[in-house]
Formats: sequence, C-alpha cells, structure tokens
Amino acid sequence: MEHLLDWFPDRLQSWLAERGQPSYRAGQIRQWILRRRVDQFEQMTDLPKQLRAQLAAEFFIWSSRVAAHQKADDGTEKLLLELLDGERIECVLLRDDRHHRTACISTQVGCGMGCRFCASGLDGLIRNLTTGEILEQLLQLDRLLPAGERLTHIVVMGMGEPLANLDRLLPALASATDSQGLGIGARRVTISTVGLPAGIVRLAEAGVQYHLAISLHAPDDALRNQLVPSNRNVGIKALLEAADQYFQKTGRRITYEYVLIGGVNDQPRHARALAALLRGRKALVNLIVLNPVPELSYRPPAQAEVERFVQLLETGGINVHVRYRKGDQIEAACGQLRRRTDEHLPTGPAGLEKSPQTMPTGAETVSH
Ligand code: SAH
Repeated sequence: MEHLLDWFPDRLQSWLAERGQPSYRAGQIRQWILRRRVDQFEQMTDLPKQLRAQLAAEFFIWSSRVAAHQKADDGTEKLLLELLDGERIECVLLRDDRHHRTACISTQVGCGMGCRFCASGLDGLIRNLTTGEILEQLLQLDRLLPAGERLTHIVVMGMGEPLANLDRLLPALASATDSQGLGIGARRVTISTVGLPAGIVRLAEAGVQYHLAISLHAPDDALRNQLVPSNRNVGIKALLEAADQYFQKTGRRITYEYVLIGGVNDQPRHARALAALLRGRKALVNLIVLNPVPELSYRPPAQAEVERFVQLLETGGINVHVRYRKGDQIEAACGQLRRRTDEHLPTGPAGLEKSPQTMPTGAETVSH
C-alpha cells in the first residue's frame, strides 16, 4: 500500500494515465481530499466505482495519527503527529484577529543544523519527511478549522531545515498552492532557512513566489559560527549574496530573523553592526525574543535591552518587527513537545492540559 499524498501532484497523474483514466481525475481526487475534506475513496462520488475500488486497493490517505493535541487560550493549536515508523513531529495552527489561519509545519524529524539555542536539533537529524508527510500536516491542521474556514498562510518554520529537504517540500507546497488543492497563494507561504546558499539559489530558480526568511542571528561570522554551526562552511557574505539573488529573481523582500539571546547577541554593538550589514538592502529584520530551552543555558534579554536593540536598528534605517511570545501559557520552543513526550508520552489531551503549553517560536505573528 502507498501513501496517496506522496503521489500528489505528478505521480498520481501518471498512475491514472496508466490505467486509461482522463487527466482531470487527478484534479477531482485532489479536490475531494484537499478542499472537501473527504478521506474515504468510497465518498468520491464523481469517480467511477471501479476506480474508487482500485484506489482503495493501492492507497491509504492518512499516514499519521494525532498523539497529542494542545490548545492555548489565544486559539493556537498544536499537534504532535506520530508517523508510520513511530517518529513524531509537531505542527501548529495559529489564529489571529485579521482572520489569518496560519499553518506552521515541519520538514524533518529532528534537524542537522545544530543551532545552539534550538530544541529541534538537540538530537541531530533523524530523517527527512516525505512529500506526503509534509502535506499531511496541512490537512490535519485544516481539519481543525470549522466548515467555512480555510488555511490562509503557511510558514515552514517547524522542525527541520526546509532547504535540506527541498525535493520533498516543493511538491507538497505545489499541492498547497494549487487552485484544485488547498488554494493558498504562493505569496502567503514563508520558508524559513538557516541559510544554505545553494538551496536559496535553487528556490530562486524554481520560479515560485514564496517569501524567504533567513535565520541570521548574528552580524558577524565569529558570533554566527558559534550560534549557528552550519555558518562555518558558508559565511555571511555568501549567504547575503544568495539572498540578494533571491530578491533580484523574485522581487520579494527578504526577512532576516534574529533571535535575541540575553548577553550574547543583543548588545548595542551587535545592533549597529547588523544595521551596517543590511543597509541598502530591501529587508525586514524580525527580532524574536529567545524561548528558553530547559536543556540549554541561554536566557532571553530584558525588555529594555530589546527596546534598545529595536531603536538602534531603526536609527540605522532598518525595518524592524519584534515577535514576542503569545501569552504566558506559551513558553517552550519548537521541538520541545516532541522531546518531552519522548520521555513520557501523554495519554491524551487531558494529560497535557496539566503541563505547560509548548509552542514553536517561529511563527507567532508573521505578517505579510
Ligand atoms: N531551520 C529553519 C526553520 C526552523 S526554526 C531555520 O533555521 O530558519 C524557525 C525559527 O525559530 C528560526 O529562526 C530559529 O532560529 C528559531 N528558533 C529556534 N529555536 C528558538 C528558540 N529557542 N527561541 C527562539 N527562536 C528559536
């Protein structure tokens, strides 16, 4: 048996052609699953009965089960999904008062980048997610919404490094942005990367209008090498060149994410150096106040230090946005729910309500 979502969009088309089916059948199947939230082939009433039986004999639709489901007071919901091989990943639905319904999704189990302040990479990379597993997160989140509501935005800011799994991510996003799929505009999709220049250039060449967010976190190589070890083989210069190329190709403003870590990268000299680095570029700096990870010793900066940092960037002519955590309940960083439940898998939502809520940090108030 095969995971049907893994065959979206192109392979399904070929499978149907081999069975003498017209090509529009692929669109019908996509619409049933992605738009009409149907998950039984039997219910796909505009398909010939025999085709429905053939599909049911060869494919299953869901490859994950909800191992935990958390809800925060502000409408944010987080799912811990257990995959066929028992690995677990996180995805999140964010609601805001502009009626944005944003899905934050993962691309890998674990992460190989090893950023020093991040929970997702503490155990390294376990494996890439498949196209179907990436798309399935969107479907699971979409189905949390009531009948009249749909996902409006996607942020690829969950676990993993998206540009290290681009071959599987791109077809999943194609189904998400397709008008016969989830119908989410490409300009409403944000891909957040640690900054792999080859991947950025590939994305630029792919001719898609996705919004790119680069996790910079430091204004010079010495500090970035410490916080983001993958920088040692890259360097900020090559990273910014790739980003400039992305901007030239797509015309889309780049967002630079900068996690503020108390006493480490939040000093006035860092703000001035960051402003100098980005001056003249069409860029937005997204400051993220660190979500402390219990296993790691970093702490968030004081409010006054955040304000000073913002002011220095603004004085330096840089567009800045500050992302605070949403609500007191929401404390832990991305990847922590998976880690916590590795030690002790909760029996269900009731068990989780007693624990502190955990949320990813990447996605709270993405505005574009
Ligand atoms: N690998 C990609 C996407 C996943 S992380 C990337 O590096 O961009 C999404 C964002 O959350 C990144 O900017 C990441 O640096 C940030 N992040 C990770 N751990 C964090 C923490 N403890 N507090 C605040 N932000 C964190």
